[in-house]
Amino acid sequence: MERRPPPPRSEPREIIELRKLKEDQPELASAVDMQIDLLQTARRIQSRVPLPSMNLEPQHLDRAVAAGTPILGFDQIPIDWSDLRFMLRATADTMRKHDSIEPPDYRRVEALSRDADGLSAAMRNWYERARPESAGGGEVDDSVAGLEPLLVLAMRPFLSRCADAVMARTLFHGWPHGTCPLCGGEPDLSLITPAAERLLICSRCVSRWPFHQLACPFCGNADRTRLTSFATRDGWYRLSACDVCQRYIKAFDGRNATRSVLPAVDSIATLPLDAAAAQRGYR
Ligand SMILES: [Zn+2]
Ligand SMILES: [Zn+2]
Repeated sequence: MERRPPPPRSEPREIIELRKLKEDQPELASAVDMQIDLLQTARRIQSRVPLPSMNLEPQHLDRAVAAGTPILGFDQIPIDWSDLRFMLRATADTMRKHDSIEPPDYRRVEALSRDADGLSAAMRNWYERARPESAGGGEVDDSVAGLEPLLVLAMRPFLSRCADAVMARTLFHGWPHGTCPLCGGEPDLSLITPAAERLLICSRCVSRWPFHQLACPFCGNADRTRLTSFATRDGWYRLSACDVCQRYIKAFDGRNATRSVLPAVDSIATLPLDAAAAQRGYR
C-alpha cells in the first residue's frame, strides 16, 4: 500500500488567526509578522516549562488569593536559565529584525544574557518592581530600565505556564484589586463574558481574574460620568477610558465575537484602538 506523506504540522490557533487578521487588515501586516515570529520563538520553550514550585492545592490557592497580595514569588517561577538566555537573545533578534529595538538596547540585552550573576538579580528586580506601587512595585534598576517590553516577552513562557497551572485550580474569586493576583502586573486587556461579567487579563503572565464591570482598574474610579467607552464597528472590541487617571483598558467583547479571546491576537487587532485612545489624550 502506498504510504501517504504525514499531514503538515498544524499551526497554533493564534498564528492562524494572526494570518487571517493580516489578510483582513493589511495595514497591521508588520505588527502581525513580528507577533508571529515572537510566538514561534516562545513555542520552542513553552512546552517544556515545568509546573511552578508552589503549593497548587485549590484550597491553599484560594486562601492565598484572599490574603490580597500577589501569590507567585520570584523564586517560585520555574525559570531554566539557559532557556531564559535563549528567550532574551531570540526576542532581541526578532525585535531587531522588525526595527523595534534601539541598537544600544540590543547590546544591553546581549550583555545581560551573558552575565550569569547579573541576570538573575536583574530579572528579580524586573519581576518585583515593574508593577504598580499598590502591588509592591516601584522604580526598576538601571540594568533593566527601558528593557521592560522585551523582558516581559522573554519571561512569558515561564510566567504563562504558572498562570495556566494556577488558573486550572482557582478562579481568583475574592481578589479585589485591578492588579494581577498572580504576579502583581497590570492588565492591558479585558474580557467581557457572554454573561456581561468582566475579567481582566494580566499584561505579564496572562492570568485572568474577575473585576468590577465598570470601574477603572488603575485608580478605582467607578463614576459612570467620568468613564468613556466606545466599541469597534464590528462590536468585537471595546475601549474603556478613565477621565480621572487618563488611562484606558481594551476589552474583547465575548458577547459579539465568534471565537474566544486570544490575547496574542487581540493585542494586535486592537492597535487601531490604542491609536484612537492616544488621539483623545489617554495613555
Ligand atoms: Zn500577572
Ligand atoms: Zn482611572
